[in-house]
Amino acid sequence: MIAVSIFYSGGIQWSIPILIFFFSASLITKKNRNTASDKNSKQKIFMRDHYQVIANGGVGGILALIYSLTNYEFLYYYFLASLSVVCSDTWSTEIGTDTNWNTYNILNFRRVEKGFSGGISLPGSLAGLLGSVIISVSGFLLIEFNLKFFVIIIMSGILGNVLDSIFGAAVQVKYNCPECRKIVEVKNHCDVQTVYNNGIRFIDNNAVNLIASISGILFFILFQKLF
Ligand SMILES: [Zn+2]
Repeated sequence: MIAVSIFYSGGIQWSIPILIFFFSASLITKKNRNTASDKNSKQKIFMRDHYQVIANGGVGGILALIYSLTNYEFLYYYFLASLSVVCSDTWSTEIGTDTNWNTYNILNFRRVEKGFSGGISLPGSLAGLLGSVIISVSGFLLIEFNLKFFVIIIMSGILGNVLDSIFGAAVQVKYNCPECRKIVEVKNHCDVQTVYNNGIRFIDNNAVNLIASISGILFFILFQKLF
């Protein structure tokens, strides 16, 4: 639905990046769903399917709508910067939960379970970089290439992804599972109700992703002024 509204508002130029994101995300998500053994990862992937379209596609949809009303050309780059964060985060999360490499808390570099918000790993980080690059490349398939904007869109995506990890580690609500004793980010785990551990209660994974996707626009504007 969001893809359709983006098509009507922005045409094929706006549709290509969002379709590439949806297509690549569903490809790696499906691959992961079959192999994910950890319950936390599985739950996270399930949640991702639903919120992603609303929280992340929503920002793009709103930008497309404003574009259709104003024809302000920079909205397209804001849209790419936001999508760059979303795609970077999705790729790094999906690949990061599917790796045997160690995962570390982005804030204190202690080892954490893979798939944990705020956890970073080498394969996840590289996948995040690729996720940003593919969105930036897809954004210039139909318009004249602009090296400055191409680089800024990638930088915005990476920084937004880093911000997502920091917020995930620092402010996102976490719970204790009474059954498996793990710290989780869902209200139900192992078929039981979990208990509040730390973080801001109303900042869940969806909220962190929404904040990060908006931050991509702000990073773009900042770099655009700086360079
Ligand atoms: Zn549990």
